[in-house]
Amino acid sequence: MQNWQRLSRWQAKLLRIALKKHRISHAYLITGARGTGKKAVATLLAKTLFCEYPEGIEPCNQCNMCKRIDSHNHPDVHWIQPEGKTIKKEQVAHLQKEFAYSGMETNKKVYIVSAADTLTVNAANRILKFLEEPSKQTIAVLLTENSQSILPTIRSRCQVIDLKPLHPQRFKQELMDKGISESQAALVSTLTNDMDEAFRLNDDDWFAQARKTMVQLIEALAESVNDAYLSIHSQWESLFKDRDQQEMGLDLLLLGFRDILYFHMEKTASMVLFQPDGEKINRLAIRFSQEKLIFILQLTLKAKQKLKQNVHPTLVMEQLVLQIQG
Ligand SMILES: [Zn+2]
Repeated sequence: MQNWQRLSRWQAKLLRIALKKHRISHAYLITGARGTGKKAVATLLAKTLFCEYPEGIEPCNQCNMCKRIDSHNHPDVHWIQPEGKTIKKEQVAHLQKEFAYSGMETNKKVYIVSAADTLTVNAANRILKFLEEPSKQTIAVLLTENSQSILPTIRSRCQVIDLKPLHPQRFKQELMDKGISESQAALVSTLTNDMDEAFRLNDDDWFAQARKTMVQLIEALAESVNDAYLSIHSQWESLFKDRDQQEMGLDLLLLGFRDILYFHMEKTASMVLFQPDGEKINRLAIRFSQEKLIFILQLTLKAKQKLKQNVHPTLVMEQLVLQIQG
């Protein structure tokens, strides 16, 4: 996340207002499901506090301070992460000692605790002591997917920032407001909930190519096994090289077949991969019945599972093609 502007306007609104008014709390608990941008918000907060050339609350992302925070290499911004499955007392003690040594300086200090729900009881108690005797210069930021597992005593001393996943429709609108085309916004908002990721996908040549290739594969599937095989060996294999890419490919395939199903059900406003290509989808809808589409969606989900089980990706795709045709 490069700046607050990139964050959805619904997210962390109170925090942004507080920063504008220079009313920083000494402890924050940032909660939210995976992918809602907890680390990004914590990093931005640190950058806003330390940046040498901020514009309003926006960090410059260029100065030494910003760069060091990005690389987790800033002397006054400490990250604590679980070692193994938990965050141990010693990790917190080590941090507190370090802060105590430099206590003579007037520097601000920020410590960010990832997966704060994994603090052991002893570690949590040490943090609690920290929070009970706040120093003006020290800001604690705790992150968790699992806010119910945070001790109420800790929770009550933090300002809670809850990062909710955005409704795709609302997110799509925001992407369009920020200059992304409607057809891209429709697709990207179904794949991610993160503004930065959305912009990355939008600007990514690979992603544009992947979208095209999957549309072509669906068209080939509507024709013949041979066409589909050809599409896999001439295009798919060279484009979808690693596991993440292959999974993304299958996600795009799912969205494409779902579009055709939506077309049958006259829910064209919900289409994403084929939007707004009405003529193409009309042809495909004649080729694939609703029953067949539901069957294909199940097969594609199974193919995703096979990828996770390390079945060879080309084999997964070939089997999928055969089953769809069969
Ligand atoms: Zn900066």
